[in-house]
Amino acid sequence: MHLSDHDLRQMDEGWLEKLPEDKLRQVSARMLQDLKEARDRLNQTPDNSSRPPSSRAPWEKGQTEDEAAASDGSEDGEKTPHETEASAVEPEPTQAGPPSGPKKKPGRQPGAPGHGRTQKFAITGSHTHRAERCAACGEPLPDDAPSQAYAAWQEVDVEVLAEGGLRLNCIRHTLLDVTGCCCGHTTRTLPYRAKADALWDNVGLSEWRLIGPNLAAIVALLSLRMRLSRARIRELLDELFGITLSIGVIDQTLREAGRACAPLEDVLVEEVQKAAPVHADETGWPESGVLLWLWVLVSASTVLYFIGARTREMLRNALGDDFGGVLMADGYTVYRAWLDRLRCWARLLRKARGLEESTDGRVSGVGGEMLAILTKLVGAVLSARESPPPEALTALHAQDIRRLRELCERHRDDGHKKLRELAGELLNDWEVILRPVSEPDLPLTNNPAESALRPMVIARNISHGTRCASGSRAYALLASVIETCRLRKASSWHYLAEVIRAARLGASLPTLPLAPAVN
Ligand SMILES: [Zn+2]
Repeated sequence: MHLSDHDLRQMDEGWLEKLPEDKLRQVSARMLQDLKEARDRLNQTPDNSSRPPSSRAPWEKGQTEDEAAASDGSEDGEKTPHETEASAVEPEPTQAGPPSGPKKKPGRQPGAPGHGRTQKFAITGSHTHRAERCAACGEPLPDDAPSQAYAAWQEVDVEVLAEGGLRLNCIRHTLLDVTGCCCGHTTRTLPYRAKADALWDNVGLSEWRLIGPNLAAIVALLSLRMRLSRARIRELLDELFGITLSIGVIDQTLREAGRACAPLEDVLVEEVQKAAPVHADETGWPESGVLLWLWVLVSASTVLYFIGARTREMLRNALGDDFGGVLMADGYTVYRAWLDRLRCWARLLRKARGLEESTDGRVSGVGGEMLAILTKLVGAVLSARESPPPEALTALHAQDIRRLRELCERHRDDGHKKLRELAGELLNDWEVILRPVSEPDLPLTNNPAESALRPMVIARNISHGTRCASGSRAYALLASVIETCRLRKASSWHYLAEVIRAARLGASLPTLPLAPAVN
């Protein structure tokens, strides 16, 4: 769109009458483009919109309309005021006003004293935003065209100094109204603001922010990686930098950082799909009292988290229909749809060890024998990786494998529950479990996925999950980006800061750091 409300208010028939013919033509061309865009937007329905592929995360494509509507509805109570932030400085431009959420929301209530509101920072720099082209006719505005400030905001950010160390800056951003175009129009310089997006309906993404990109990335790291609650983040920033932020501003900053990362979702999905073997695991995750699942997929250089239902469709949509790699997972039925699959031996060994430690001598005997065979096979696989054996391990250890099978078949209906279960589990997935014995280079454990979930389990126990769909989405996106950077030995802080900086300007995002070369 070329023309804002501010532009349209200045335009009337009298103004058009006075325009010379060439100006009239230029203005008409821009009005026509805007009209067509507005018309297309009016005619847009879910069926013809180009948005649906990106307006839903890949793993949610199988969701029914009802489910989607239900999850959209749950966001209503969650509108976090970003007036908290904007009003900390000066009035925002009218076009860019935030949507007002009528319902009571968590955090500061309207009228309550905001923490950002009264705080004064020493201004360390200034930045003037000046439109380069006339909003009405599109002509370049002369550099010396008269202008007047109409709004301003402060941005507090952390700067990394070349000589080492950090410095806190406070930049005053001024927005100008620029006059002086020969068509007589006054052009209002507007800060960038991302278009409305149904997935992020309560999360603004804009240049107009109290918290600069570096500081926003610190807030994200403190929350996601260091697992600090919003209250603790507030305390830490106050203690270290003397910045007093409201919980609402911290919450908004986190969701905005998540939204900034949204275009990376498809990249992460694609990179995890192409780098098999993929390790998968899942754990329960409450979202505003509803039990969902936090899934993780880990490949050699990518970590992808997503929160949603515990269904095969979720996983199929994340992995993609064409996924042809090996999937390492536990015995949960959802994973069994993938034929090219592996099982985690560490879990099986733990279960066998549990049986061996049983006080029931009979169970302990069988468990001990199973454990001994499994341990021997693990040893054989590990040494086969070092130096290839003279013949296939399956032939070398045929007797052990036969004995393990015999034990499982004998105890599949055993009166002891745990023994019966382990025997059944081994028989049920026999071929898949024994694959590393015939292909020793395949991984034996699901440690990458299990260790990727462990910090999330701790975070869940601290935060009790997320409170709405956009909160879950932001959480999973930020966790994916941070953990992928860590896996690639890159600074997640610097990368996230660059992503937030670019997204707030509507620029294309920096590419994910490359994975270090494998030796
Ligand atoms: Zn003009």
